[in-house]
Amino acid sequence: MIEYRPVWADVDLDRLWHNVKVAQAHIGKKQIIPVVKANAYGHGVIEVMTWLYEKGIRYCAVVMLQEALELRAAFPDLGILIMGSVRPQDLEICSRHQFDISIYHKPLLDAAKAFNGPLKCHLKVDTGMARYGFVETADILDAAKTLMTSPHIEWTGIFSHFATADEDEQFVYRQIKRFVEVLTQLPELPPMIHLANSAGTFRFEPDIPMTTHVRLGLSLYGCVNMPDPKPPVRQVTRLRGAISQIKLLKQGECLGYGQSYCAGQDEIIALVPIGYADGIRRAYRDHQVAINGRIYPMVGAICMDALFIKIDDSVSLDDVVDIYGDVVTMDDAALHLDTTAYEIMTAISLRVPRRYVKGDSR
Ligand SMILES: *Cc1c(COP(=O)(O)O)cnc(C)c1O
Repeated sequence: MIEYRPVWADVDLDRLWHNVKVAQAHIGKKQIIPVVKANAYGHGVIEVMTWLYEKGIRYCAVVMLQEALELRAAFPDLGILIMGSVRPQDLEICSRHQFDISIYHKPLLDAAKAFNGPLKCHLKVDTGMARYGFVETADILDAAKTLMTSPHIEWTGIFSHFATADEDEQFVYRQIKRFVEVLTQLPELPPMIHLANSAGTFRFEPDIPMTTHVRLGLSLYGCVNMPDPKPPVRQVTRLRGAISQIKLLKQGECLGYGQSYCAGQDEIIALVPIGYADGIRRAYRDHQVAINGRIYPMVGAICMDALFIKIDDSVSLDDVVDIYGDVVTMDDAALHLDTTAYEIMTAISLRVPRRYVKGDSR
Protein backbone atom coordinates (compact mmCIF):
# COMPACT_ATOMS: atom_id res chain seq x y z
CA MET A 1 0.00 0.00 0.00
CA ILE A 2 3.05 2.17 -0.20
CA GLU A 3 1.58 4.26 -2.99
CA TYR A 4 -1.24 5.30 -0.68
CA ARG A 5 0.71 6.03 2.45
CA PRO A 6 3.49 8.60 2.61
CA VAL A 7 5.21 6.81 5.48
CA TRP A 8 7.43 3.85 4.80
CA ALA A 9 10.44 1.81 5.87
CA ASP A 10 13.25 1.58 3.35
CA VAL A 11 14.93 -1.77 3.83
CA ASP A 12 18.33 -1.77 2.11
CA LEU A 13 19.16 -5.34 1.16
CA ASP A 14 22.68 -4.41 0.08
CA ARG A 15 23.35 -3.22 3.60
CA LEU A 16 22.00 -6.48 4.95
CA TRP A 17 24.47 -8.36 2.80
CA HIS A 18 27.25 -5.95 3.74
CA ASN A 19 26.56 -6.81 7.38
CA VAL A 20 26.69 -10.53 6.63
CA LYS A 21 30.11 -10.01 5.08
CA VAL A 22 31.34 -7.93 8.02
CA ALA A 23 30.37 -10.77 10.34
CA GLN A 24 31.83 -13.42 8.05
CA ALA A 25 35.16 -11.60 7.91
CA HIS A 26 35.17 -11.58 11.69
CA ILE A 27 34.44 -15.25 12.29
CA GLY A 28 36.70 -16.82 9.69
CA LYS A 29 35.76 -20.42 8.97
CA LYS A 30 32.68 -20.54 11.18
CA GLN A 31 29.30 -20.11 9.60
CA ILE A 32 26.44 -17.68 10.14
CA ILE A 33 22.94 -18.78 11.04
CA PRO A 34 20.76 -15.74 10.31
CA VAL A 35 18.11 -15.27 12.97
CA VAL A 36 14.89 -14.22 11.27
CA LYS A 37 12.40 -14.52 14.11
CA ALA A 38 9.75 -11.86 14.65
CA ASN A 39 9.35 -11.21 10.92
CA ALA A 40 13.14 -10.81 10.60
CA TYR A 41 13.09 -8.28 13.44
CA GLY A 42 10.40 -6.38 11.57
CA HIS A 43 12.26 -6.29 8.25
CA GLY A 44 9.98 -8.76 6.45
CA VAL A 45 10.99 -12.36 6.81
CA ILE A 46 10.15 -13.55 3.30
CA GLU A 47 11.92 -10.66 1.58
CA VAL A 48 14.95 -10.92 3.85
CA MET A 49 15.21 -14.67 3.47
CA THR A 50 14.65 -14.52 -0.30
CA TRP A 51 17.64 -12.21 -0.55
CA LEU A 52 19.82 -14.33 1.71
CA TYR A 53 18.76 -17.46 -0.15
CA GLU A 54 19.72 -15.83 -3.45
CA LYS A 55 23.11 -15.17 -1.88
CA GLY A 56 23.51 -18.84 -1.04
CA ILE A 57 22.35 -19.10 2.58
CA ARG A 58 20.43 -22.32 3.20
CA TYR A 59 19.88 -22.35 6.95
CA CYS A 60 18.21 -19.97 9.38
CA ALA A 61 16.74 -19.81 12.86
CA VAL A 62 13.38 -18.70 14.20
CA VAL A 63 11.83 -19.05 17.62
CA MET A 64 8.44 -20.61 17.04
CA LEU A 65 6.63 -23.14 14.92
CA GLN A 66 4.34 -20.53 13.42
CA GLU A 67 7.39 -18.68 12.05
CA ALA A 68 8.93 -21.88 10.75
CA LEU A 69 5.73 -22.77 8.88
CA GLU A 70 5.56 -19.36 7.23
CA LEU A 71 9.12 -19.83 5.98
CA ARG A 72 8.56 -23.41 4.86
CA ALA A 73 5.65 -22.34 2.65
CA ALA A 74 8.06 -20.10 0.73
CA PHE A 75 11.27 -22.17 0.95
CA PRO A 76 10.73 -25.92 0.52
CA ASP A 77 14.39 -26.86 1.03
CA LEU A 78 15.58 -24.31 3.59
CA GLY A 79 17.06 -25.60 6.84
CA ILE A 80 15.00 -24.06 9.66
CA LEU A 81 15.88 -24.27 13.34
CA ILE A 82 13.13 -23.59 15.87
CA MET A 83 15.11 -22.26 18.84
CA GLY A 84 12.19 -21.83 21.20
CA SER A 85 9.56 -24.09 22.64
CA VAL A 86 7.80 -26.91 20.86
CA ARG A 87 4.95 -28.92 22.38
CA PRO A 88 4.84 -32.71 22.16
CA GLN A 89 1.76 -32.46 19.95
CA ASP A 90 3.80 -30.31 17.51
CA LEU A 91 6.36 -33.04 16.81
CA GLU A 92 4.31 -34.50 13.99
CA ILE A 93 4.20 -31.25 12.03
CA CYS A 94 7.89 -30.53 12.79
CA SER A 95 8.79 -33.95 11.46
CA ARG A 96 6.68 -33.51 8.35
CA HIS A 97 8.33 -30.16 7.53
CA GLN A 98 11.83 -31.31 8.49
CA PHE A 99 12.36 -28.53 11.00
CA ASP A 100 15.28 -28.73 13.39
CA ILE A 101 13.82 -28.44 16.88
CA SER A 102 15.39 -27.66 20.24
CA ILE A 103 15.25 -30.33 22.88
CA TYR A 104 15.40 -28.32 26.08
CA HIS A 105 13.75 -30.38 28.81
CA LYS A 106 12.92 -33.93 29.77
CA PRO A 107 9.23 -33.97 28.80
CA LEU A 108 10.12 -32.97 25.24
CA LEU A 109 13.04 -35.39 25.15
CA ASP A 110 10.73 -38.22 26.18
CA ALA A 111 8.15 -37.21 23.61
CA ALA A 112 10.82 -37.09 20.89
CA LYS A 113 12.12 -40.48 21.93
CA ALA A 114 8.64 -41.97 21.77
CA PHE A 115 7.74 -40.21 18.54
CA ASN A 116 7.19 -42.40 15.55
CA GLY A 117 8.93 -40.59 12.69
CA PRO A 118 12.08 -38.74 11.68
CA LEU A 119 13.10 -35.78 13.84
CA LYS A 120 16.06 -33.41 13.61
CA CYS A 121 17.13 -32.22 17.03
CA HIS A 122 19.44 -29.64 18.54
CA LEU A 123 20.18 -30.15 22.20
CA LYS A 124 19.71 -26.95 24.20
CA VAL A 125 22.05 -26.49 27.12
CA ASP A 126 21.40 -23.85 29.76
CA THR A 127 24.81 -22.46 30.72
CA GLY A 128 23.50 -19.57 32.79
CA MET A 129 20.74 -17.76 30.93
CA ALA A 130 18.21 -19.81 32.91
CA ARG A 131 15.76 -19.79 30.04
CA TYR A 132 15.39 -22.92 27.89
CA GLY A 133 17.76 -25.84 28.32
CA PHE A 134 19.15 -28.65 30.41
CA VAL A 135 21.29 -27.49 33.32
CA GLU A 136 22.81 -30.52 35.03
CA THR A 137 25.66 -32.44 33.40
CA ALA A 138 24.01 -35.79 34.04
CA ASP A 139 20.79 -34.65 32.36
CA ILE A 140 22.70 -33.25 29.38
CA LEU A 141 24.67 -36.49 28.92
CA ASP A 142 21.51 -38.51 29.24
CA ALA A 143 19.70 -36.38 26.68
CA ALA A 144 22.65 -36.57 24.28
CA LYS A 145 22.68 -40.33 24.63
CA THR A 146 19.00 -40.51 23.76
CA LEU A 147 19.52 -38.30 20.70
CA MET A 148 22.52 -40.40 19.61
CA THR A 149 20.86 -43.76 20.04
CA SER A 150 17.31 -43.19 18.86
CA PRO A 151 17.26 -44.40 15.25
CA HIS A 152 14.50 -42.01 14.16
CA ILE A 153 16.34 -38.99 15.57
CA GLU A 154 19.03 -37.14 13.71
CA TRP A 155 21.18 -35.27 16.23
CA THR A 156 21.96 -32.16 14.24
CA GLY A 157 23.25 -29.72 16.82
CA ILE A 158 23.95 -28.51 20.32
CA PHE A 159 23.71 -24.94 21.50
CA SER A 160 23.45 -22.49 24.35
CA HIS A 161 22.74 -18.79 24.66
CA PHE A 162 24.50 -15.85 26.33
CA ALA A 163 22.67 -13.80 28.93
CA THR A 164 25.10 -10.85 29.03
CA ALA A 165 26.85 -10.81 25.65
CA ASP A 166 26.42 -7.04 25.42
CA GLU A 167 27.48 -6.30 28.99
CA ASP A 168 29.07 -8.47 31.71
CA GLU A 169 32.20 -10.06 30.27
CA GLN A 170 32.87 -12.24 33.30
CA PHE A 171 29.52 -13.94 33.01
CA VAL A 172 30.12 -14.54 29.30
CA TYR A 173 33.40 -16.28 30.10
CA ARG A 174 31.63 -18.41 32.69
CA GLN A 175 29.08 -19.49 30.14
CA ILE A 176 31.77 -20.28 27.54
CA LYS A 177 33.68 -22.32 30.11
CA ARG A 178 30.58 -24.24 31.08
CA PHE A 179 29.63 -24.93 27.47
CA VAL A 180 33.11 -26.23 26.64
CA GLU A 181 33.06 -28.35 29.79
CA VAL A 182 29.82 -29.95 28.62
CA LEU A 183 31.07 -30.45 25.06
CA THR A 184 34.27 -32.15 26.16
CA GLN A 185 32.33 -34.64 28.25
CA LEU A 186 30.16 -35.80 25.38
CA PRO A 187 31.21 -39.05 23.75
CA GLU A 188 30.39 -37.62 20.34
CA LEU A 189 29.48 -34.22 18.91
CA PRO A 190 26.78 -33.23 16.42
CA PRO A 191 27.71 -31.25 13.27
CA MET A 192 26.41 -27.87 14.46
CA ILE A 193 27.71 -26.34 17.69
CA HIS A 194 26.73 -22.76 18.43
CA LEU A 195 26.68 -20.28 21.25
CA ALA A 196 27.24 -16.66 20.21
CA ASN A 197 24.61 -14.11 19.22
CA SER A 198 25.58 -10.74 17.69
CA ALA A 199 27.33 -9.09 20.61
CA GLY A 200 28.85 -12.41 21.64
CA THR A 201 30.19 -12.87 18.13
CA PHE A 202 31.74 -9.47 17.73
CA ARG A 203 33.18 -9.39 21.23
CA PHE A 204 34.36 -12.99 21.69
CA GLU A 205 34.53 -14.79 18.36
CA PRO A 206 36.44 -16.28 16.67
CA ASP A 207 37.90 -17.36 20.02
CA ILE A 208 35.00 -19.34 21.42
CA PRO A 209 36.34 -22.90 21.37
CA MET A 210 34.66 -25.82 19.64
CA THR A 211 31.78 -23.92 18.05
CA THR A 212 31.01 -24.19 14.34
CA HIS A 213 28.32 -21.53 13.88
CA VAL A 214 27.12 -18.18 15.22
CA ARG A 215 23.50 -17.04 15.40
CA LEU A 216 23.12 -13.46 14.20
CA GLY A 217 20.09 -11.23 14.38
CA LEU A 218 20.60 -7.65 15.48
CA SER A 219 23.97 -7.11 13.80
CA LEU A 220 22.71 -8.35 10.43
CA TYR A 221 20.06 -5.64 10.66
CA GLY A 222 22.84 -3.18 11.36
CA CYS A 223 22.57 -2.32 15.03
CA VAL A 224 25.13 -3.08 17.70
CA ASN A 225 24.48 -3.12 21.39
CA MET A 226 28.01 -3.47 22.65
CA PRO A 227 30.88 -1.41 23.98
CA ASP A 228 33.44 -0.03 21.52
CA PRO A 229 35.05 -1.01 19.27
CA LYS A 230 31.89 -1.53 17.27
CA PRO A 231 31.88 -3.49 14.02
CA PRO A 232 31.27 -1.52 10.81
CA VAL A 233 27.73 -2.77 10.25
CA ARG A 234 25.18 -0.40 8.74
CA GLN A 235 21.58 0.11 9.80
CA VAL A 236 19.46 -1.67 7.20
CA THR A 237 16.18 0.15 7.73
CA ARG A 238 15.39 3.79 7.38
CA LEU A 239 11.95 4.80 8.67
CA ARG A 240 10.71 7.75 6.67
CA GLY A 241 7.67 9.94 6.30
CA ALA A 242 6.38 12.85 4.28
CA ILE A 243 5.25 16.09 5.85
CA SER A 244 1.48 16.36 5.72
CA GLN A 245 1.03 19.91 7.02
CA ILE A 246 3.17 22.88 8.02
CA LYS A 247 1.69 25.43 10.40
CA LEU A 248 2.60 28.41 12.50
CA LEU A 249 2.41 28.14 16.25
CA LYS A 250 2.34 31.64 17.70
CA GLN A 251 4.23 32.50 20.84
CA GLY A 252 2.31 31.17 23.85
CA GLU A 253 0.11 28.79 21.83
CA CYS A 254 0.20 25.12 22.67
CA LEU A 255 -0.28 21.98 20.61
CA GLY A 256 -1.56 18.44 20.63
CA TYR A 257 -3.25 16.22 23.19
CA GLY A 258 -2.82 17.67 26.64
CA GLN A 259 -1.50 20.89 25.06
CA SER A 260 1.78 19.81 26.58
CA TYR A 261 4.07 21.82 24.35
CA CYS A 262 3.79 25.61 24.14
CA ALA A 263 5.70 27.84 21.77
CA GLY A 264 8.29 30.07 23.43
CA GLN A 265 8.23 32.29 20.36
CA ASP A 266 6.56 32.13 16.96
CA GLU A 267 7.46 28.66 15.69
CA ILE A 268 6.97 26.57 12.56
CA ILE A 269 5.58 23.11 13.12
CA ALA A 270 5.46 20.19 10.69
CA LEU A 271 3.14 17.22 11.01
CA VAL A 272 4.23 13.74 9.96
CA PRO A 273 1.45 11.14 9.59
CA ILE A 274 3.08 8.47 11.73
CA GLY A 275 2.36 7.73 15.37
CA TYR A 276 2.31 5.20 18.13
CA ALA A 277 0.12 2.80 16.15
CA ASP A 278 3.11 2.57 13.81
CA GLY A 279 5.45 1.75 16.67
CA ILE A 280 6.66 5.23 17.59
CA ARG A 281 5.97 4.93 21.27
CA ARG A 282 4.49 7.91 23.13
CA ALA A 283 7.54 7.80 25.39
CA TYR A 284 9.63 8.67 22.34
CA ARG A 285 8.39 12.28 22.60
CA ASP A 286 10.93 15.08 22.70
CA HIS A 287 13.52 13.13 20.75
CA GLN A 288 14.78 14.12 17.32
CA VAL A 289 14.32 13.41 13.64
CA ALA A 290 16.41 14.35 10.62
CA ILE A 291 15.34 16.29 7.53
CA ASN A 292 17.87 16.66 4.74
CA GLY A 293 20.54 15.43 7.13
CA ARG A 294 19.77 18.11 9.73
CA ILE A 295 18.37 17.40 13.16
CA TYR A 296 15.02 18.78 14.32
CA PRO A 297 13.23 18.22 17.64
CA MET A 298 9.92 16.48 18.06
CA VAL A 299 7.50 18.45 20.22
CA GLY A 300 4.27 17.68 22.03
CA ALA A 301 2.57 14.37 22.59
CA ILE A 302 2.90 11.69 19.92
CA CYS A 303 -0.56 10.82 18.58
CA MET A 304 -1.73 7.44 17.35
CA ASP A 305 -1.30 8.56 13.73
CA ALA A 306 0.77 11.75 13.75
CA LEU A 307 3.63 13.55 15.41
CA PHE A 308 4.88 17.14 15.51
CA ILE A 309 8.30 18.48 14.59
CA LYS A 310 9.62 21.96 15.20
CA ILE A 311 11.18 23.01 11.91
CA ASP A 312 12.60 26.16 10.35
CA ASP A 313 11.78 27.93 7.12
CA SER A 314 14.31 25.90 5.16
CA VAL A 315 11.96 22.91 5.35
CA SER A 316 9.16 22.55 2.82
CA LEU A 317 6.20 20.24 2.28
CA ASP A 318 8.24 18.27 -0.25
CA ASP A 319 10.90 17.25 2.24
CA VAL A 320 11.11 13.79 3.71
CA VAL A 321 11.53 13.18 7.42
CA ASP A 322 13.86 10.44 8.64
CA ILE A 323 12.42 9.14 11.88
CA TYR A 324 15.26 6.60 12.12
CA GLY A 325 18.09 6.71 9.64
CA ASP A 326 21.82 7.36 9.55
CA VAL A 327 21.59 10.67 11.44
CA VAL A 328 19.18 9.65 14.18
CA THR A 329 19.74 5.90 14.39
CA MET A 330 17.72 3.16 16.02
CA ASP A 331 20.53 2.85 18.55
CA ASP A 332 20.03 6.57 19.37
CA ALA A 333 16.29 5.97 19.69
CA ALA A 334 16.92 3.03 22.00
CA LEU A 335 19.14 5.16 24.20
CA HIS A 336 16.47 7.86 24.44
CA LEU A 337 13.85 5.30 25.41
CA ASP A 338 16.13 3.40 27.76
CA THR A 339 15.61 0.26 25.74
CA THR A 340 17.40 -1.65 22.99
CA ALA A 341 17.40 -1.44 19.21
CA TYR A 342 15.73 -4.89 19.25
CA GLU A 343 12.60 -3.28 20.62
CA ILE A 344 12.79 -0.28 18.31
CA MET A 345 12.97 -2.35 15.11
CA THR A 346 10.44 -4.99 16.07
CA ALA A 347 8.00 -2.29 17.18
CA ILE A 348 7.61 -0.82 13.67
CA SER A 349 4.12 -2.04 13.04
CA LEU A 350 2.72 -3.78 10.00
CA ARG A 351 0.82 -0.62 9.11
CA VAL A 352 4.13 0.81 7.88
CA PRO A 353 4.76 -0.36 4.30
CA ARG A 354 8.23 -1.82 3.71
CA ARG A 355 10.05 -0.83 0.55
CA TYR A 356 12.96 -3.01 -0.51
CA VAL A 357 15.84 -1.16 -2.05
CA LYS A 358 19.41 -1.89 -2.96
CA GLY A 359 22.20 0.54 -2.29
CA ASP A 360 21.94 3.87 -4.04
CA SER A 361 18.47 3.21 -5.37
CA ARG A 362 16.98 4.30 -2.08
C1 LIG B 1 17.24 -13.85 19.13
C2 LIG B 1 18.25 -14.87 19.39
C3 LIG B 1 19.52 -14.80 18.82
C4 LIG B 1 19.99 -13.60 18.01
O1 LIG B 1 20.49 -12.61 18.88
P1 LIG B 1 21.06 -11.22 18.35
O2 LIG B 1 21.58 -10.56 19.56
O3 LIG B 1 19.91 -10.51 17.73
O4 LIG B 1 22.13 -11.53 17.36
C5 LIG B 1 20.39 -15.86 19.01
N1 LIG B 1 20.04 -16.92 19.75
C6 LIG B 1 18.83 -17.02 20.35
C7 LIG B 1 18.51 -18.22 21.16
C8 LIG B 1 17.91 -16.00 20.21
O5 LIG B 1 16.71 -16.09 20.79
